[in-house]
Amino acid sequence: MTIVWIYVDTNKEVGDRDHLKVFANPDAADEWFKENDPEGVVFGYEVLGDETRPRSYCQACGALIDMRDLSQIVAHVHDT
Ligand SMILES: [Zn+2]
Repeated sequence: MTIVWIYVDTNKEVGDRDHLKVFANPDAADEWFKENDPEGVVFGYEVLGDETRPRSYCQACGALIDMRDLSQIVAHVHDT
């Protein structure tokens, strides 16, 4: 699960590129706060759709292949 840390600058308009600041970790946010907004607070949010996907669909036939299993990958060959 990936978390990003988001700070909202309520002085900015929605859609303003400075309205939201997104940080990869709280330390990065702290650094930014020191210079820009000592009173600032960030909240962590989960990044959706970031699950590791060991399975993959074959682009030719749509079969679901377990990418951790090399024999499945090797056995699944198309004569295209
Ligand atoms: Zn296939």
